[in-house]
Amino acid sequence: MTSHRPVYITLEWQEQGPLETTGRRLWREGRTVCTSYDYPRRLSCSNPECEDGGFEIGERIARLLASGKVSEQNSLVCRNAIHADRAKRCLHTIIYSITCVRPYQRHKPKAVSDSNAT
Ligand SMILES: [Zn+2]
Repeated sequence: MTSHRPVYITLEWQEQGPLETTGRRLWREGRTVCTSYDYPRRLSCSNPECEDGGFEIGERIARLLASGKVSEQNSLVCRNAIHADRAKRCLHTIIYSITCVRPYQRHKPKAVSDSNAT
């Protein structure tokens, strides 16, 4: 009997925040390897003035897994970017890259009758 193998996911991101000038500064970058079972739902925001902020990467990973595609590069804004209180809006963003490695990508799922044969 074959068990369900997880999809391995490599997640890389760079977080950026605004400066007082027009430039942007790199706040943090990270890389993690996880699986379809334990990927992070949210990456924390490193803006010290941002309350309970973060980047909802989990939805993006779930969507990529569901789509059957191998990789995606995109960006995300902090969830506080749309804060009702203007003073609490956070302008941090991340640029991320997700890459999936599916262990049996070239194989179609086995038919039920196969697993009964001995
Ligand atoms: Zn934030």
